[in-house]
Amino acid sequence: MKILTRIWTPIDFDRDGKFSDCLRVPYSSDKSAYGWIPIPIVAIRNGPGRTAVLFGGSHGDEYEGQLALMNLARSLRQEDVVGRLIIIPSLNFPAVKAGRRLSPLDNGNLNRTFPGNALGSPTQMIAHYVSDVLLPMADLAVDLHSGGFSLDYVQCAVLRPGRNEEETKQVLELAEVFGAPVTVISSGSTGGGATTLNAVSRELGVPTITTELGGGATLSPSGVRLAEDGIRRLCKHFGTTPRIEVPPTTGTVLMEIPGSEYHIYAEAEGLFEPAVQVGEDVVEGQFAGRLHSFDDPLKEPRELRFPKTGRVASRRFPSLTARGDSLFELMRPRRKVG
Ligand SMILES: [Zn+2]
Repeated sequence: MKILTRIWTPIDFDRDGKFSDCLRVPYSSDKSAYGWIPIPIVAIRNGPGRTAVLFGGSHGDEYEGQLALMNLARSLRQEDVVGRLIIIPSLNFPAVKAGRRLSPLDNGNLNRTFPGNALGSPTQMIAHYVSDVLLPMADLAVDLHSGGFSLDYVQCAVLRPGRNEEETKQVLELAEVFGAPVTVISSGSTGGGATTLNAVSRELGVPTITTELGGGATLSPSGVRLAEDGIRRLCKHFGTTPRIEVPPTTGTVLMEIPGSEYHIYAEAEGLFEPAVQVGEDVVEGQFAGRLHSFDDPLKEPRELRFPKTGRVASRRFPSLTARGDSLFELMRPRRKVG
């Protein structure tokens, strides 16, 4: 027997109109035995047609996507839409309210929890609702991320290759339309693997664009602009908002992150002193920074050198570092998709 979601919403996704309400995630606590947690959602439907679903705030400390989606939700009218547009700016709302990557309710990392669990913790229930209710309705999905507290990230779109050549071609075309300066093709091997929204949507055959729009748990205005302009271009191209004005794209450069050999990880705890910034081109063997011992002033710091030639996609943002932290992640021009 299929186990159904426990999350509900007063919004009828099949009704025409523009609606703002919330998903209601049941959560029984000391202070609220029969209560629920709200997740704000805006649904716009205007007759039959395809469905685009836009997500932000899967990690609570990533802000560009949340703002871009709220801007879009306010500005788009019912008459702008053909078919259906569903916008959820703060998907893991408890994490957003806490300003954290993870939910304070269950320590859940939403984008490492897919496909989720209908009867699990709040974060598991949200992932399941996305996997089981929202993505099956979707013909296009966008999931907006940034580096958050621990990473600074070059502004980019991130794609997974599809299940076949046709699907890969389709997402590459969408990346071209989205128009981030860089599009990174990733297998997910150094990130969330099969536990991400993108992994589930790929299995369902829903073309999906993910992003990284900045980092450091602050707001990059250019990242907000890229997200908003990119989604407007996508939705127009897709026929969801065929008549809206969109700014032109200047094109995108395809890059890839092959695997963990393109990272520098901290081999000891200490204080991280980076020597380069995200977006810089580096060569194999180039000095990348130092890792200082914080409990022994006379100990020589560890010198960090880049293991490969490439461009810096992300770097650790906080100085305080534990063994195993990713300090740098490199990308290189795309060679193949597969
Ligand atoms: Zn994220």
